[in-house]
Order: sequence, then C-alpha cells, then structure tokens
Amino acid sequence: MMTLISDVMNRLMGRLTCRETLELLQQHLDGELPADQTRRVAEHLDHCRLCNAESDIYEQIKQAIMTSGVADPDVVQRLERFGERVGNGEIVD
Ligand SMILES: [Zn+2]
Repeated sequence: MMTLISDVMNRLMGRLTCRETLELLQQHLDGELPADQTRRVAEHLDHCRLCNAESDIYEQIKQAIMTSGVADPDVVQRLERFGERVGNGEIVD
C-alpha cells in the first residue's frame, strides 16, 4: 500500500499527508489558516507534485469565479473527479 507507506513517512517527518493537505488546501489558498498550518501546507506543496496540481486547479476556479462570477464547469468537474479519487484511495503520493 503506497499510500500508507507515504503517509507514515510524512508523519515521521512531521509533514502533512496528501489527504490532510487537500482538506486544508482551500482554506490555505483563501488565507484562512493559522500561521503554523499555513507553513505545513506550504512545506507539503514544496515536495508534492500531486497537491501542487490540485492547488493549481483551485487557483483556476478562484480566478474563473473572480473574473466571470461563475466557475468553469470543466474545471469544477475535474476537481470533483479528483476529490472522488482521493476519497477512494486511488491516488498515491
Ligand atoms: Zn501531497
């Protein structure tokens, strides 16, 4: 189980797991997290391509909402699919 091993590694190194990061990501990008959690999310994003990609999708949604008032349905769908795969444990770090 790759997910389990990487989660254990992350915990041993005091890092957030991908799932924890993704749960905090939206608040992180909205600047709503306390400083210590912001730092841990940023640290995870530094070394994790997967969560970086997810972060980009959130940014795209935010920008689409800010510019047009509506989120691009394609982007939203991608995000929802991604979330489902993470929830099903299909995504490994
Ligand atoms: Zn990650």
